[in-house]
Amino acid sequence: MNNEAPLFGRIALIGIGLIGSSLARSINKYSISEHISIYSRSPETLKKACDLKLGDSYHRDPAQAVKNADLVIICTPMGAYTTVAQAIAPGLKMGAIVSDVGSSKRSVFSDLNPYLPDGIHLVPAHPVAGTADSGPESGFSELFKGHWCIITPLETTDPTAVTKVKNLWIRCGMMVEIMDASRHDHVLAITSHLPQLISYTIVGTVADLQDDLKSEVTKFAAGGLRDFTRIAASDPTMWRDVCLKNKDAVLDVLGRFMEDLTALQRAIRRGQGDLLEDSFSSAREIRRRVIEAKQDFINVKPKDES
Ligand code: NAP
Repeated sequence: MNNEAPLFGRIALIGIGLIGSSLARSINKYSISEHISIYSRSPETLKKACDLKLGDSYHRDPAQAVKNADLVIICTPMGAYTTVAQAIAPGLKMGAIVSDVGSSKRSVFSDLNPYLPDGIHLVPAHPVAGTADSGPESGFSELFKGHWCIITPLETTDPTAVTKVKNLWIRCGMMVEIMDASRHDHVLAITSHLPQLISYTIVGTVADLQDDLKSEVTKFAAGGLRDFTRIAASDPTMWRDVCLKNKDAVLDVLGRFMEDLTALQRAIRRGQGDLLEDSFSSAREIRRRVIEAKQDFINVKPKDES
């Protein structure tokens, strides 16, 4: 538990799925806010959040949910951001901070800024932590622990607002980096969005195989396919939105990937073993660096956390 003073009087969470509910659990556990108000689109999800005691008040109206909030965090798929901004705008209090958790960052400004009233501080953020599960029941308080949160303010953003958002994520156990939104999008296109697309493609190729072969492929999945199926089980709506919102960077890294894959294909056809070995050796080196950076772990939901 935590003896430090709360950082906020009232935080509003718009969306209460894996990330929103993990954040609610962290905010409660580490006494980050005196009050959490929660909005979710469907009555079913809102009821689940209430049953799980994730917040202090529950709202069907986004403008009501953000009323008197010092910090509003949008935790919905990115395709909903403009609708959310329009819906929360009338309820925002002067000086409030609006942040988010979306996996792409450049689009946040164009999707939110035009609808936010003057005097609101927009501080986009991306906690780079997750699982393939969705919904409020899948979250847990330690999801973020030991991972990076990237915050992407503009140069003109109020530094006090940035510090407040930074302190929230630090108290949730994250390491924080401030980064330009375009750079974030390029880095994440390589480290997250490309692997996700490759996983969908590989699993999609399996799905297209003839039925008799498919059953054996599933049976012997431990040969490598297993890890791709885990990644490909992530929420399709969320990933649709990430690809479309980060279109330019995703297309750029996809182009590079396809060139590299074609080079490997040619090396195999020509029997160029040295070329293959060189390429596989540099991949091993990257793996060594990931382990050195202590980023080769996934936090899992403890059995005793509801
Ligand atoms: P999730 O578990 O599917 O929850 C989504 C939440 O958003 C639910 O409360 C849902 O409400 C609401 N929602 C869905 N569509 C909506 C719409 N069109 N309008 C308004 N509300 C809508 O999603 P999540 O995994 O927490 O992801 C949320 C955000 O976190 C995404 O922007 C994603 O990019 C980012 N993120 C995800 C991960 C990850 O690993 N999952 C990691 C880092 C960042 P109802 O259930 O009531 O419909």
